[in-house]
Amino acid sequence: MRIAELRDQLRQLGANPAHEDRVLRHWVQAKPQDATKRKPVDFLPRPLYEALPRISEALAGLVSLRSVHPADDGSERLLLALRDGQTVESVLLPRDGVCVSSQVGCAVGCVFCMTGQAGLLRQVSSAEIVAQVAFARTRRPVKKVVFMGMGEPSHNLDNVLEAIDLLGTQGNIGHKNLVFSTVGDERAFEQLPLGRVKPALALSLHSTLAERRAELLPRAPRISPEELVERGEAYARQTGYPIQYQWTLIEGLNDSEEELEGIVRLLKGKYALMNMIPYNTVDALPYQRPTWERAAEIARWLHRRGVLTKLRQSAGQEVDGGCGQLRARTLEGEKV
Ligand code: SF4
Repeated sequence: MRIAELRDQLRQLGANPAHEDRVLRHWVQAKPQDATKRKPVDFLPRPLYEALPRISEALAGLVSLRSVHPADDGSERLLLALRDGQTVESVLLPRDGVCVSSQVGCAVGCVFCMTGQAGLLRQVSSAEIVAQVAFARTRRPVKKVVFMGMGEPSHNLDNVLEAIDLLGTQGNIGHKNLVFSTVGDERAFEQLPLGRVKPALALSLHSTLAERRAELLPRAPRISPEELVERGEAYARQTGYPIQYQWTLIEGLNDSEEELEGIVRLLKGKYALMNMIPYNTVDALPYQRPTWERAAEIARWLHRRGVLTKLRQSAGQEVDGGCGQLRARTLEGEKV
């Protein structure tokens, strides 16, 4: 179900826009009721009021917990079932964040990513995206939502933008705490500046060499690293938030001096933050994780050369947590 359809159903039950917002706010904020206070859903038109238990049940049933995998870093990786039995991963991040999935599978096919291996199976609807946030809030507070789970958000742009709009207007999430992540799709650069909620932008760079980037991200748009940074810089200046560049650091593949010099060339002086994430080795793929010391040395070197760099663990990596891993393991029949 899309949020637009949900609003339509509420309207048919007599809701005006304020009623719609109230019902949706109640859902996405997932706050327990204080019995002594007026409920946010009181004083609604009678047909809507009477339908609310059924609507609430339907919204709560959009995702259901299949399994939960807590990690020592405070994150929890969740495998969630959608109503048709497909599964997606969400990650509850330390410091009140949640990473959500926007597609089941992904068509970009990044060679180092388990999600990309199976291709795209289906889109995740805007209501299913918001449901991941509402579900996360039943477990802990959520103040930040990153669209970095399974899928390329630009390939499901209408649903993702609808979810962003609702989260930014009724979901009590600051606009810069909504992080849209993309490999660099033209439609995202066109559409994001037009919304009333402008999310922060994360761009998956992974290589400064056009040919190598095309090998690593085989079905990403053929935009050069230079153009990607140029488009990112324009959005950063427009919104006032820095661009977060994502770099999965893979030993022997994109950790060379040439690549590091390339990062300095592209990002020095830009309104940008480089997130360097050492690759999580997985059995099914042939890539290797560099040592933490080597990754830290690279981050310090970039920092000294004028590129603001943060070295990050991928959340929950000790629970076999490369994006798509949990789902891949259930498909293989393993119990997770
Ligand atoms: Fe898709 Fe992201 Fe995986 Fe690439 S890394 S295949 S864009 S989910």
